[in-house]
Amino acid sequence: MDYSLVTEAYEKIESTTKRLEMTDYLVDFFKKTPKDAIDKIVYLTQGKLYPDFVGIELGMAEKLAVRAVAKATGRSEKEIEEDLAKTGDIGETAQRFLEKKRQISFFRVPLTVERVYQTLDKIARATGEGSMDLKVNLLAGILADATPKDAKYILRTVTGKLRLGIADMTVLDALAIAYGGGKEARDIIERAYNISSDLGRVARELAEGGIETLKNFKITLGNPIRPMLAERLSSPAEILEKLGGKCIAEYKYDGERIQAHKDGDKVVLFSRRLEDVTEQYPDAVELIKTHVKLEEAIVEAECVAVNLDSGEMMPFQELMHRRRKYGIEKAINEYPISLFMFDVLYVDGRDLTLEPYPARHKILEEIIQQSDRVQLAKYLIVDNIDDLEKFFEEAVEAGCEGLVCKSLNSDAVYQAGARGWLWIKYKRDYKSEMIDTVDLVVVGAFHGRGRRAGTYGALLLAIYNHENDTFETICKCGSGFTDEDLKNLPKMLEPYKIDHKHPRVNSNLEADIWFLPKMVIEVIGAEITLSPIHTCARDVIRKGSGLAIRFPRFTGKYRTDKSAEDATTIDEIIEMYKKQLKKIEAE
Ligand code: ATP
Repeated sequence: MDYSLVTEAYEKIESTTKRLEMTDYLVDFFKKTPKDAIDKIVYLTQGKLYPDFVGIELGMAEKLAVRAVAKATGRSEKEIEEDLAKTGDIGETAQRFLEKKRQISFFRVPLTVERVYQTLDKIARATGEGSMDLKVNLLAGILADATPKDAKYILRTVTGKLRLGIADMTVLDALAIAYGGGKEARDIIERAYNISSDLGRVARELAEGGIETLKNFKITLGNPIRPMLAERLSSPAEILEKLGGKCIAEYKYDGERIQAHKDGDKVVLFSRRLEDVTEQYPDAVELIKTHVKLEEAIVEAECVAVNLDSGEMMPFQELMHRRRKYGIEKAINEYPISLFMFDVLYVDGRDLTLEPYPARHKILEEIIQQSDRVQLAKYLIVDNIDDLEKFFEEAVEAGCEGLVCKSLNSDAVYQAGARGWLWIKYKRDYKSEMIDTVDLVVVGAFHGRGRRAGTYGALLLAIYNHENDTFETICKCGSGFTDEDLKNLPKMLEPYKIDHKHPRVNSNLEADIWFLPKMVIEVIGAEITLSPIHTCARDVIRKGSGLAIRFPRFTGKYRTDKSAEDATTIDEIIEMYKKQLKKIEAE
């Protein structure tokens, strides 16, 4: 296929901003394309060589592109650069210089799409020593045979700057008309795209086999399924109403969404944007291998930074340390993760995306071997506002963003690639940021795990209620303690150990070890939140709820200068909660 056909089509598409006209041009273009080249043409029109999940990207440095244009036109790099400074578009600059080229070669062979595609592919894949020269030579090679207009688009493509503005949905429309027999075919084509994320593959199967072939289009392990997304509402009442009075509410974990494809011993992980993030999470790969009890499965999970010793979830920012190419092994230990599984889309050859959520959830429960590191997203089936609100508070306090409430109806399929009302997220409008530290009384402790076996995993901390002369719990805190602290704490607390909860301590949590309220430590947190568990200021802000500190950390200060009655009081906490209330910015 002649590359000039591509150039001609791009020119037309660029000449309009109207979607319908754009679709018409694409239809013409697709019809002129041989069936076995349609996949490549579809990728190219989107400025790509492959679907995103393959991870081979175009994006040659402009400096190298300048060198290639200089080489192909016999001009100096300086001249090219000066022109580029004016046009700001390497495509346009290349076109100009090719037009001005003095000797036109008589041996020019017309460029084919195959040759351009293969050359771009080689350029995209070239790495390491000598790759820069190789890229320049490869590009200059095709420019020698390109017309000035071809050069414009080739340059834009190779530098990753081809912006024709064709949305996926426009390509789907055009494919339906060109090969599917009309717009009616659109849904079938779209579904194939949603379960494969590969427009090129869909186009080729459609062109070669017709719409009947696409009706049998199957999920393929290794091709990500486009994610189902949630709508948002801001009150439990609206959510319940929308979901028919009853729903399954799940913790909305604050981490990174992962779609895991398990094929025997091979596991591939995709991000929310369907990029391959397998390399970044070798530990998650291992967890999927060992905790998904089937040979073949596609599951979805939120990958969350955790403190393995205390079992606490860490703020989302901790996960950012995992966004790296080198030193992954070290990062795995410093910033461990846990997986919270929330959907299953495929098992042993069976597509589950059209099954209702209750059925998928049941299968998920059966195929996951749960452990400390891999759990089902915590859930509750709710049919009243109160329970939903309580569960929401519990989720936020535990470090989650809120809840995702999911439909239990028989039509609650996995809507791949769509944001719909079968999932509704419930996040907060306000949060109470914590600026100051507080001084809290140690009233209990929990046994540690892992590296903390034999010492404490977390302490149960309380504020002082000066009116009742009691100590009310406000958080469980396992962060901020050094190894030294952890070694010393059992010794320091030994004199206060008692075998029951102290009568002045007001707690709904059952600690493993109880103490006399004596020791005071300084703590800072991310914010103060409502809590269905903790007893601090219960019923003051909202009936049935207390206040808690989210993401609490020990600052390192033992307040030996303070008695338990000098600890932060309930009034101070209420004041802090009210004062620091801030509206959360809308997404
Ligand atoms: P947000 O920034 O709110 O996460 P989003 O556009 O990425 O927005 P939404 O579909 O609006 O995604 O919200 C669902 C997201 O919440 C998922 O993409 C997933 O990463 C995350 N999540 C956490 N826990 C769950 C859960 N139990 N079920 C579904 N999604 C969950």
